[in-house]
Amino acid sequence: MAWVESFDAFVRTHLPALRVEQDAKMAHYTSFRIGGGARRMAFPRTEEDVERLLSFCREHEVPCLVIGKGTNLLISDQGLDQLVLNMLEMNAIRVEGTRVYVQAGALLSHVAVAAQKAGCAGLAFAHGIPGSLGGAVAMNAGAYGGEMQQVVESVTALFPDGLRTLRGEALRFGYRHSVFTEEKGVVLAAVLSLQKGDSTEIRAEMDDLMARRRASQPLEYPSAGSTFKRPEGYFAGTMIDQCGLKGAAVGGAEVSEKHAGFIINKDHATFEDVVTLIGVVQDTVFREFGVELEPEVKIIS
Ligand SMILES: Cc1cc2nc3c(=O)[nH]c(=O)nc-3n(C[C@H](O)[C@H](O)[C@H](O)COP(=O)(O)OP(=O)(O)OC[C@H]3O[C@@H](n4cnc5c(N)ncnc54)[C@H](O)[C@@H]3O)c2cc1C
Repeated sequence: MAWVESFDAFVRTHLPALRVEQDAKMAHYTSFRIGGGARRMAFPRTEEDVERLLSFCREHEVPCLVIGKGTNLLISDQGLDQLVLNMLEMNAIRVEGTRVYVQAGALLSHVAVAAQKAGCAGLAFAHGIPGSLGGAVAMNAGAYGGEMQQVVESVTALFPDGLRTLRGEALRFGYRHSVFTEEKGVVLAAVLSLQKGDSTEIRAEMDDLMARRRASQPLEYPSAGSTFKRPEGYFAGTMIDQCGLKGAAVGGAEVSEKHAGFIINKDHATFEDVVTLIGVVQDTVFREFGVELEPEVKIIS
């Protein structure tokens, strides 16, 4: 029996209330607007849903991709023969004093606004990052001098060996890296620790950072943000610009004229267009600077 049939039977029996989409077009679930159909996409609403779905995958050896808002993903047009766990329906946010209790699927922009309204400072940097809390924790997302590791107090996650709540060193935060990317942990929720601040000042800071983003980033086109990680001692965008690659295109994919660090989906780009352009940029930068650019975007095929 194909795994999808076992899966559908499993859901009917054990999770009858679970929302499941068949052949979910990944282009609809990613900011790049690229990606074919995923055989099944499930939208868990509780920790138990996630636990049962992961047990099913382990038992039936079905690969599982966990996604939040899909803002750091490049997915094959051939689609995914795997279960996609879309975390966006687990999205509760609660502020108590200067602590924020938040589920993985909450959007960072919503978390930042909830914190700002409650007079909690320290999360303004994250307001313009278009992902979910879970994706941001897994990636240790950061901008304008801030990084998730500065505000995360603890994270509850499901690992292949069970549920764990981790804090401090155990989170193994690094540049766009965490224990969750290393050990395939699914982030369920986190506690953020902020400081007391003035709501009006925090709002002004968020607005200022958003204006800086709009001025410097090609937000009018689909993309997955910065295509490459920042190599030590360099800026990827500056090197790409110095190689004369702004505007370089393969099919519908283009190195943004506005910010060379972004590859954009200018006009119905395919997965292959973007992957080929990534290769062109890597080869050119290596030839000119001897530096290997590593994609920040997660390429999944
Ligand atoms: C216009 C634009 C601007 C951006 N600016 C920034 C920026 O300033 N700084 C920055 O750091 N990033 C930036 N990004 C990239 C992206 O928004 C971040 O990496 C974000 O944290 C990804 O969150 P997501 O929910 O979209 O994750 P997804 O893209 O859905 O997933 C990304 C990775 O996280 C994993 N993941 C997602 N949810 C979970 C979970 N609950 N548990 C475990 N793993 C999970 C996925 O498996 C995948 O490996 C930008 C992207 C865009 C499109």
